[in-house]
Amino acid sequence: MSLFSAVEMAPRDPILGLNEAFNADTRPQKVNLGVGVYYNEAGRIPLLKAVELAEKARAEARAPRGYLPIEGIGTYDSAVQKLLFGADSDIIKSGRIITSQAVGGTGALKIGADYLKRLLPNAVVAISDPSWQNHRALFSAAGFPVQNYRYYDPIQQGVDVEGMLEDLRELPRQSIVVLHACCHNPTGVDLNTEQWQAILEVLKECNHVPFLDIAYQGFAEGIDEDAAAVRLFADSDMPFFVSSSFSKSFSLYGERVGALSIVAGSKEEAKRVLSQLKLVIRTNYSNPPTHGASVVDLVLNTPELNALWQEELGEMRDRIMRMRKLMVEQLAAKGAKKDFSFVVEQRGMFSYSGLSKEQVERLRDEFGIYAVASGRICVAALNLNNIDAVTDAIVQVL
Ligand code: PMP
Repeated sequence: MSLFSAVEMAPRDPILGLNEAFNADTRPQKVNLGVGVYYNEAGRIPLLKAVELAEKARAEARAPRGYLPIEGIGTYDSAVQKLLFGADSDIIKSGRIITSQAVGGTGALKIGADYLKRLLPNAVVAISDPSWQNHRALFSAAGFPVQNYRYYDPIQQGVDVEGMLEDLRELPRQSIVVLHACCHNPTGVDLNTEQWQAILEVLKECNHVPFLDIAYQGFAEGIDEDAAAVRLFADSDMPFFVSSSFSKSFSLYGERVGALSIVAGSKEEAKRVLSQLKLVIRTNYSNPPTHGASVVDLVLNTPELNALWQEELGEMRDRIMRMRKLMVEQLAAKGAKKDFSFVVEQRGMFSYSGLSKEQVERLRDEFGIYAVASGRICVAALNLNNIDAVTDAIVQVL
């Protein structure tokens, strides 16, 4: 009898499973819209010029690879704060924020969740319905019960704000509420300023702990515009958490570059919080990796590289918007039996297309076009070479 003889096979990750099926498909015209990455016009993950230059400079400097501090590179952490809260932010000056480099946005959520479990062991965690599927898994794995608040309204293709407010009010006091700060994954549907304000009021009223997840800053309207929710919370005097990621905005997926920021009540409180967070990190992975964060650090803190990065980020954002518009135009021109104009209102890489599970299956089986069963498509995987085939196929499965 082996130690592992009774071990069950864990279910496959539905999105990674989709990639495996895509890779095994031999049809030459296949298109993968199930992915969660930005592809350029040539259908590839770009290596940004700003990243390339920073890597070259780093290689030439022959930087040694010693251990980093537990909270990562200090200049990286402060650059993250400026991006999130704004360069002139009062809250940064006050010293109430601490930021720690993290192993991607996922790692930031993980250390945040583990720390919260120590701080609020009996809390409930609430995530949007639907949400990025790892939100539930991560907070469950940290030991929290996880429930949904109403978010997406499929009839209006918008946010069910009344439902959301009601659900937030009904949570036990001091619940942890995970919010997508911009470019909601999977729906592409965000809250507007007024709605954010209303949510903030309820969170305050109920003493909930907001956990803002921002994985796509710069993909909707711009770096500052996309951080509006983070800055609204910063002005509120509430304590809150922010997990952020450079996977998409720097096209550095595999380098695992992210950060966790925590806003405390005072500078002195923030110091104590950081000391506790460091304990969590120390017993997880000791200290973070050097390469990706050094590259981002160099880009953000070198004016010319920073400007180049912002230009490249703008190109990615504009290309996504062009693909949204073209998709809507083509579907209308091809006589689609449904109005898709909502797709241009959605933000970020994803669109909840409204395609049913059956329609998604037909797209895959008959046309070699892969999407997530929920109907989520990655608009950033469309390009001028594949968009015709995609819109032709959608018209046929409707
Ligand atoms: N949060 C959301 C909402 C995401 O979509 C993602 C990435 N898919 C992450 C966090 C994690 O980002 P990372 O790849 O940097 O771990």
